[in-house]
Amino acid sequence: MSAPARRPAGQDATLPNPLVVCQAVSRDYGEGTARVAAVRQVSCGVRPGARIAVTGRSGSGKSTLLHLMAGLDTPTAGTINWPGLGGAPHGRPGSVGVVFQGPSLLPELTALENTALPRLFGGHSPGCAASRAAEALRRLGIEDLSDALPDQLSSGQAQRVAIARALASRPRLILADEPTGRLDAATGAQVITALLDVADEIDAGLVVATHDPAVAVRLTESWQMNDGRLAVTTHRANQPEERS
Ligand code: ADP
Ligand code: MG
Repeated sequence: MSAPARRPAGQDATLPNPLVVCQAVSRDYGEGTARVAAVRQVSCGVRPGARIAVTGRSGSGKSTLLHLMAGLDTPTAGTINWPGLGGAPHGRPGSVGVVFQGPSLLPELTALENTALPRLFGGHSPGCAASRAAEALRRLGIEDLSDALPDQLSSGQAQRVAIARALASRPRLILADEPTGRLDAATGAQVITALLDVADEIDAGLVVATHDPAVAVRLTESWQMNDGRLAVTTHRANQPEERS
């Protein structure tokens, strides 16, 4: 197997009708001497069907970039657009599914109710939202936990519920932040399989921030973050020409 080709960050931004395009995006936290440049001048794009691993050491800006691409955070410089999602994710609830790095389930709601919530917010009937949620929990192998409250779940089980919640609304773009970070290797592999299967089925773009090389190799593209910059992107499938 030949080594993956390297190409400059931002190349995908030129592809037609991408799900999200970042142009020279920066995100600073704090002011003056306390200022932290979490993301610096990042240009990138996610096309439909993309399978991208965002790698890089802790603090390199992976979570911040995912939150920006989800429309959950606003850049301090640069622009973000979602041409393939009709402009912005806010106007179309459910078009972006996000799996957060930390615990994110609402403690008063069962696993099924947590999973159904995005569809309810999207205006679907409770019955429709519940059946889609049950299907997503089944896909993640945790249908028997439907009635459990978050504090009755292990952190790995809670993470799988959070993934089911992100998939239940069949989003066009799935952004998963360290989705296997709290799982053992076998469960992590199963979760990545579920993410890839669902992304294939619903023709969604998939972006996974991960520390784990075993996860990164299952995705076709790799974006390496380094101190807030998107330093290198590699593509295993098409082996594009080497550039500068
Ligand atoms: P990663 O996900 O790669 O670990 P993050 O995006 O979480 O990186 O963080 C990038 C940088 O931004 C780090 O230096 C982090 O400490 C800082 N940072 C992230 N979120 C905040 C915040 N809410 N306030 C201040 N600094 C933050
Ligand atoms: Mg992170």
